[in-house]
Order: sequence, then structure tokens, then C-alpha cells
Amino acid sequence: MQLKSVIGLARNVRYHRFGKCTICGKNTMFLSFDGHAAPHVRERLHCASCKSVSRQRHVALEMLRAFERKETSLQEARAFFRTLKIYSASSGDAMSQVLGKDNSNYVVSEYFPDVPAGEKKNGVQCQNLEALTFKDSEFDVVITEDVLEHVVNFKKALSEIHRVLKKGGFHIFTVPLLLDSPTVERAIVEQTGTIKHLLPPEYHGDPIRGEILAFRTFGYDIFSMLSEIGFDATLSPTFFQMTLKHAIADSYVIVSRKR
Ligand SMILES: [Zn+2]
Repeated sequence: MQLKSVIGLARNVRYHRFGKCTICGKNTMFLSFDGHAAPHVRERLHCASCKSVSRQRHVALEMLRAFERKETSLQEARAFFRTLKIYSASSGDAMSQVLGKDNSNYVVSEYFPDVPAGEKKNGVQCQNLEALTFKDSEFDVVITEDVLEHVVNFKKALSEIHRVLKKGGFHIFTVPLLLDSPTVERAIVEQTGTIKHLLPPEYHGDPIRGEILAFRTFGYDIFSMLSEIGFDATLSPTFFQMTLKHAIADSYVIVSRKR
């Protein structure tokens, strides 16, 4: 562990907490490594066992709720979830470790601009959410975590997700969300292919590509847009008493079901 992390751990000692992880199922310690536990808790409180952060455990909790499971972790409900066809637009995270290992029903992808969709780079399949190569009605669940704000044409991506889901299937996802504003477009791609910034560019860290541009910050109108595409969507915020036992805080998950 780097010295910086050790110092961060010591400084954040009041934010660390014990609890049960909704992904790996361990009763464990959740750790915050830097000096900023608030306001970005959703990206922190790392599970000491599977390294998941608050936001990822919230998505796992919503998966358990969506299928009315009694278990409180994906690990415990693993046998059930392995029977479902699941597509996640992230590879190598804690959920894919628990559900995806030796399981062809669990499909992961990343977006590599230099790789044709459906082909692999370093063993990971490339997919462009605006033009998925999957069949219609192939999946029971699609998961995207903080991805759609980086997609140029997000309505096309949502239509594609709708297409590849079975009727009644779930798109469970996170995006940075403004609850007091409609969606704010931060940048567009012009017909020439150049990016035009409407607001100062905002970049988010990405484990594969370093930093990626956020084209927008979503607002409350995302729900009417989801409805137009053919989803019934609800917002699940964290409720502190109920979710702190899983070290989930400062987080919103959208549970969007194909009509
Ligand atoms: Zn864990």
C-alpha cells in the first residue's frame, strides 16, 4: 500500500465502518483512503474484501430488490443470478468477479475506439452502446455504472439497451444526477466530428482510458425520456439507516424496466 493511502486511511478513520458487503457477502471493514469522504462517498468506502465502492454495492442491492431476493449479497444469491443473462458495460469489477467467473451468461464489455464492436482487446469484448452487436431481447439485466454521461448519443444507447433486454428485463444504472435541474448538455459532437464544448469540459477518471469527457450531467427529465423509449423507471436513493449497514451512502440508482 502506498504511503499516501496509509495517510488517507488514518486521516479518514471516522468514516471507516463495519458492515456487510452486498457483492461479496463478507462481514468486513469499509475503508476510505483519501481525505474526502464527503461529498463523494459514492465512489469510496472500499470493501476490504472485494474492493467494491458504495455505488457498486448500491447497484448490487437494487439487483437483489428487483428480483425480490431474500439474500443480502450477490454472492449468496449467486446460483440464482447465474441463471440470468446479464450484460454489464464494465469489466473487472467486483460484481463480475462474483457473478461472471466461468459464467457465459454474464457478458462484460468496454468501449475501445480502435477495436470493432464485438471483437476483443486484452481479452475484453468491445461494445459501443449506441450500436450493440447483441440480438434483440437477449438479456434479463443490463448494468451501466456512470457510463451514459460519456456516450455521445445517449438516447440511442438507451434505445439499444431497450432492444437487447427481454420484456420485463431491467436496466439498472447510475449516472451523476441533478435532482433540481433538467439535463445539462456540456458538450456536443458537430457534424464535422469535432467536439464543441458548451460548458467548461468535465473529465471523469476511467480505469481503462484514463480520463473521459462527460458530455452531459443528467437531470430529472431522464425519467420522461426513459418512459418515451419504453421503460418504467424509478429512482432509488440511499436511505441512511437501512443502507449504512452495507456502507452505501450518497448514491442514486435508476431501476428501469422494459415495458
Ligand atoms: Zn465486498
